[in-house]
Amino acid sequence: MRGIGVLCFLLVMLFQPLLALCAQDAAPKVASQEIRVALDPARHELCGATVLTFAGVAKQARLGLAPAARIESVQDAGGEKVPWRFDSGSLTLDLAGRAATVTVTWRASFHDEVSRNQTAEDPSYGVNASIGEEGTFLGGGALWYPVPEQVPQSRTVKVEAPVGIEAVTFGARLSRETLGGVTRSVWREARPVGILSLCAGPYLVEEREVAGIKLYSYLSRDNAALAPRYLDAVARYLPMYQELFGPYPFEKYAVVENFFPTGYGFPSFTLLGGSVIRLPFIVDTSLPHEIAHSWWGNGVDVDASEGNWCEGLVTYLADYLLKERRSEAEGSDYRRQLLIDYASLVTPQNDFPLTSFASRSDPASRAIGYGKGAMVFHMTRRHIGDEAFFAGLRQVARERMYRDASWSDLLRAFSERSGADLSGFRTWLTRPGGPRLALADVTLRRDGKGWRVNGVVRQSAPFSAVELPLRLESAGGATTEVVRVGAREETPFTLTSAAAPGRLLLDPAADLFRILAQDEIPATVNSVKGSTRLMGVVARDCRARPETFRTFLASLSQGTAPIVGEDALTSTEAARRDLVICGVPADRSLIPAGAELPTAAGEGAADSLLFQVLMRAAPEKGAVALFLPGSECAALQYAPKVTHYGKYGSLYFAGGVNRRKGTAAAAGGGAVVRFQPQNNP
Ligand SMILES: [Zn+2]
Repeated sequence: MRGIGVLCFLLVMLFQPLLALCAQDAAPKVASQEIRVALDPARHELCGATVLTFAGVAKQARLGLAPAARIESVQDAGGEKVPWRFDSGSLTLDLAGRAATVTVTWRASFHDEVSRNQTAEDPSYGVNASIGEEGTFLGGGALWYPVPEQVPQSRTVKVEAPVGIEAVTFGARLSRETLGGVTRSVWREARPVGILSLCAGPYLVEEREVAGIKLYSYLSRDNAALAPRYLDAVARYLPMYQELFGPYPFEKYAVVENFFPTGYGFPSFTLLGGSVIRLPFIVDTSLPHEIAHSWWGNGVDVDASEGNWCEGLVTYLADYLLKERRSEAEGSDYRRQLLIDYASLVTPQNDFPLTSFASRSDPASRAIGYGKGAMVFHMTRRHIGDEAFFAGLRQVARERMYRDASWSDLLRAFSERSGADLSGFRTWLTRPGGPRLALADVTLRRDGKGWRVNGVVRQSAPFSAVELPLRLESAGGATTEVVRVGAREETPFTLTSAAAPGRLLLDPAADLFRILAQDEIPATVNSVKGSTRLMGVVARDCRARPETFRTFLASLSQGTAPIVGEDALTSTEAARRDLVICGVPADRSLIPAGAELPTAAGEGAADSLLFQVLMRAAPEKGAVALFLPGSECAALQYAPKVTHYGKYGSLYFAGGVNRRKGTAAAAGGGAVVRFQPQNNP
């Protein structure tokens, strides 16, 4: 279950559009708002007082507040009662002829139960707001305090709770103390954004400072030992992102533990479930994702009129970019996986254009809003170059911080910084699906001293104009050329090569968003797990004992698959089966093209396991997996881990951990042409 689920919980708390509060007439500007709340976890209750100072004179003000709240009093600065009306979550104050400062006191009870039938695609666990002994979460959407129509120009929050219950909300922490059996803290935002969320619990608090920004961790006693790991990671990622996007827009960054397994990113803090925090990979996956949301989604809000762009952008700038920075191969593997997910999960029935994406509700909407969105940013970056791309992002951050931005604002900034006309990119946003491309009619001819490859790129309707990388591989190396494919059925191309070419590959690094054909989707661990005709084969150099190999197959739900020695394997049997071969078979024709045999330094060593699944095209289509432990000991240690990497086709373990995971390039279909071996002229 590792990896699955957790990454799905990622979610940014987009500012709730101010619901029914959208101003019809000009809503009065709020110069400042002070919110004082006292939490009573034993009773699941809070009582609060808020002081609102309006800028200028207004006849009326409307505030949003949880419909179940009880208003206790509304007074002006002189202590005079202010007439009010509270109906269906809307509190209307009659301000005619009064001073600009009004105090509202209220009480409210919040006790949403954590849903037990959690599906991975309901990241809220059914909890909008809950105050309790195990923890308190008050989401902005629950309107736990009176929320004015316009975001105040400055905002202060004072929280009181029973001794030891620490609270966190937006803004800088001005003070924190425990006195007379009460724990208090005060928070202030210089530039308030959105509606406040607040959490509280029996946290142990650690703090640090990096580049003038306060970093905090608010973790339960159980997880407090992880604080340095998280603070170190924040101290690494915040400066990295400041360099890429410009100044960090908030006063602090806090890692806060939640009592149910969320992965939320709020302005200036992330709220991660206790079980999530303990997963070892979160510091380098969910955490940077949520930190990047500080700029994209929280600092710059989403103008959703053209769709939510922030999940695609943050997926690209965190989940993806960190992989790309580790290696080119990890980057292209990640992009390929996005294309595989899209092709496997999105159907004409559940597809929609990016302009219609609001938030994910299932794996398909995730493959569109996060995956296709990330690919659109990748194609933009490739088109205009790194410098213009990141300068464009910094421009949007500078111009739209604390306000909202749309896809158009982003495209405009990229266009201004690069001088490129990006109007053609709109179709990636407004059209569902994507191009379906294949190589066809490919011929190879001698041309003077070298070779000439002619062919066409064929696409099925609806047609798109795309920039398509084609790679020609020969013994002398590989050359990649970007072909401008027109919005029509066939686009001819000509490539030349000095040496005899071995293969022609269509977009081998997955730089283009397109719909993969079924036979381009590579074989993975899941192909082995799902096989109905699997056979285990023991080659002579298999370094695992027979029972260890048997247990390995059982861990892949193939405990009843027959196992034979390579010598006993007939070619008929080999052709009609899916195979897992332990060791490198003496008959190399059993190994499909594209297999990597352990040659790289260290691979094949006693403490290592290489496992790869490949798709064989002939004589009959089938999956062939190579199971290559360096020793019996390595097989015992690493083989049980393989099943957890279902979506990968290539795994390498050493030193106690997974060192590499990936998926092979498009294996067949119209994306690869193999040439007959030629003699160089
Ligand atoms: Zn996100």
